[in-house]
Amino acid sequence: PFPARNDHVQPLLSIETVSKHFAAHQALRDVELTVGAGEFIALLGPSGCGKTTLLRCIAGFLTPDAGRIRIDGEDITKAPPYRRPLNTVFQSYALFPHMSVLDNVAYGPRRAGVARAEAQGRAREALALVGLEEMGARLPRALSGGQQQRVALARAIVNRPKLLLLDEPLSALDLKLRRRMQIELKHIQEKLGIAFIFVTHDQEEAMAMADRIVVMHGGRVEQVGTPAEIYRAPASRFVAEFVGEPNLIPAEPAGPGRIRLAFAGLELAAPDGTRCAMIRPEDVVLVEGAAPADLATAGGTVEEVVAIGPMTTLFVRCGDVLLKVARLGMSGAELQPGAGVTVGLRPAALHLIAE
Ligand code: ATP
Repeated sequence: PFPARNDHVQPLLSIETVSKHFAAHQALRDVELTVGAGEFIALLGPSGCGKTTLLRCIAGFLTPDAGRIRIDGEDITKAPPYRRPLNTVFQSYALFPHMSVLDNVAYGPRRAGVARAEAQGRAREALALVGLEEMGARLPRALSGGQQQRVALARAIVNRPKLLLLDEPLSALDLKLRRRMQIELKHIQEKLGIAFIFVTHDQEEAMAMADRIVVMHGGRVEQVGTPAEIYRAPASRFVAEFVGEPNLIPAEPAGPGRIRLAFAGLELAAPDGTRCAMIRPEDVVLVEGAAPADLATAGGTVEEVVAIGPMTTLFVRCGDVLLKVARLGMSGAELQPGAGVTVGLRPAALHLIAE
């Protein structure tokens, strides 16, 4: 629902050339980002790329060395955390163990001076939003991990912030629960209409939840785009490799504006500086019988077969290139290493990458 660029409307949050050093280490380099009201943003990147540092600058726990952060146009770069219309959910969501779930959620408004009845009313509303209206009287330890996580969320939204920052909130949960919470969290976010900025190093999590993904690398924003844009048209080799499993086929210049790929001598028009072409494993075709005319084909040898149930991946050697070929279900799982096969690429499925 959100365009990759939304600079025609006033963004909820704008981050303008923000940099941050820790001694000699530059944790953020000229970070630019705008976030619209109600948008779900995932900050995605490997450990140490600066995700948490960026989140802390937005929250106000850190001050950038350079650049500006605005919310609704107002410069909040140096405002203390409690003056910002946002809240943060941390990975360790530490609920008060001796307080009921309802009191845990009502604690924030109570501390802000809201009368007890009113604070509990708001807490009940927040618990209802996360689907825990029946659990208010329990102690946190009588809840499952996923339920405790939802209490932490209720606590963070009870004051209706415009923006919620979430730092790997699901990473303590086991994989199945985590996958379920991803879907639930996404539904809750849609219902609330609050913008979420969600830090994760799990690309599937980012793909499953976000309206737009911000891929970070070495303190820089490497690419911002919808999950489909990031997956189909990664801006760099780093993004292609961080999100999903790419086949990267080396390219050589073949005259002005053209490249030759190390696959079937395929020649393509390409901008100068194109270093490789990417194709996703599910777009590589295993040709049986006569090949359609629009396929560039080459003979190859199966080196490895990995069948995990919903998907089978074949590793097929074609000269210098080891292609990953993904097939649905157990299709292809019967092939043995050493088998000769023909693989085909549709030039339209190739995405060119400069570096
Ligand atoms: P992770 O996924 O591991 O949490 P991250 O992407 O959130 O990683 P940051 O926590 O933002 O990464 O850290 C970015 C870099 O800055 C890292 O190299 C980290 O060691 C460094 N760094 C972060 N906080 C400090 C600090 N207070 N003092 C010194 N260096 C820091």
